[in-house]
Amino acid sequence: MLKQQTDVLIIGAGPSGCVAASYLHNNNIKVKVVEKSKFPRFVIGESLIPRVMDHFEEAGLLESLKTMNFEKKFGARFIRGEEICEFDFSEKFGEGWDWTWQVPRADFDNTLAQEVINKGIDLEFESEVLNVVFNEDGSSITTVKNKDGDISEIHARFIIDSSGYGRVLPRILKLDAPSSIPENSSLFSHVKDINRPEGREGVLISFDILETKVWLWVIPFSNGNTSIGVVGPTSFINSLGGSNAEALKAVINRSDFYRERFKDVDFLFEPHKIENYSCSVTKLCGPGFTLTGNSSEFLDPVFSSGVCFATESGMLSAKLFLKELQGEKVDWDKEYTEYMKYGVNVFATYVKEWYTGNLQTLFFHRPENPDVKKKICAVLAGYVWNKENPFVKKHAHVIKNMAYMLEMGKTMDEESYDN
Ligand code: FAD
Repeated sequence: MLKQQTDVLIIGAGPSGCVAASYLHNNNIKVKVVEKSKFPRFVIGESLIPRVMDHFEEAGLLESLKTMNFEKKFGARFIRGEEICEFDFSEKFGEGWDWTWQVPRADFDNTLAQEVINKGIDLEFESEVLNVVFNEDGSSITTVKNKDGDISEIHARFIIDSSGYGRVLPRILKLDAPSSIPENSSLFSHVKDINRPEGREGVLISFDILETKVWLWVIPFSNGNTSIGVVGPTSFINSLGGSNAEALKAVINRSDFYRERFKDVDFLFEPHKIENYSCSVTKLCGPGFTLTGNSSEFLDPVFSSGVCFATESGMLSAKLFLKELQGEKVDWDKEYTEYMKYGVNVFATYVKEWYTGNLQTLFFHRPENPDVKKKICAVLAGYVWNKENPFVKKHAHVIKNMAYMLEMGKTMDEESYDN
């Protein structure tokens, strides 16, 4: 049996794995990436948020992405009947990127993976991790099956599990835990956007609220296709009936804003359905490993935080491993788990308050409060570790309190941050 030795084994070549691999390689660490599928492969998660640009830049992957001419995303539009709320990332509170992309992930992830290979990193496609055994010192032996069915062993000092929905280590180490987010499901596909309006309207990313807990996404790509998906409580999605295509068509038909544009377009593939996608874990790291991206926690698509947490955690895992290798002490619970959980908890509040309707109350209240808007905008851009932003620091109460004040006929002001 073939035996290989590496410093870091990365499971999965999605955005999380590629950012981690690239950062470590740039710092002269020996890395091996094993990826189960053959790229390009489809995965959902097409709306990015600006914070990811920091990670791609720091990992040395941004320039290759720029050559792809993906559709630029400068903000997000939320629609509720006749009401519109638009966020412009250039008007957010604090520092940070004010644009990103909306991307077909097959092309996007393939660009990342090819760039990782171009750097000279050993990335093996169509190789599936079957099992991992940890030694007492945290080093590990991973069993991998390649596309010819050959089994090999990879001996690694450290594993970054970026296996996304594959959740390799949570499965093997029994770390799965229920999510605190309500059970939601989704149906989605791509269309050739033949009725796409000229100009900005045609490429604007939008979220159309059909009911408080049910919303439609419309994500136009630069290749002329558009991603359309619906999210709602699992009971609602499953009550739609018919085939996935019939069910998604029926939902699009309920959108006053998009009915005409998509009424006679065919789906490019039978819509996928993912049920109860939110997931969590009992721990984010242990001796010899970290869990990153969707292998750790996934909340909800509503604020497009998935890829951002994937790259944030991939980058942080890489940095902390490097720090430890350089002889510095790493407090993994504090520097990894606590840090990641802080950002996840901020976003989790926004997701929950979206589905209670409180956040929608803030979004659609008129007149708008520009100060409140720019602070919420910074959260939506992914800057959820900036505690100077009261909408980060006081996330647990601020939205609920403000929505309550507005419903009582009062205005949104600084005082309600604290109440
Ligand atoms: P992935 O991109 O899933 O990559 C993991 C890789 O690991 C895969 O290529 C897989 O083949 C590989 N792998 C799996 N098992 C093994 C194994 N045993 N051995 C080797 N390799 C393996 N996020 C956003 O940011 N924006 C959105 O708009 C958005 N919309 C979403 C809509 C829905 C309905 C859902 C459910 C999620 C959405 N997400 C969105 C979340 C997004 O899909 C993920 O957060 C993101 O893809 C996670 O990236 P990753 O690198 O962790 O994993």
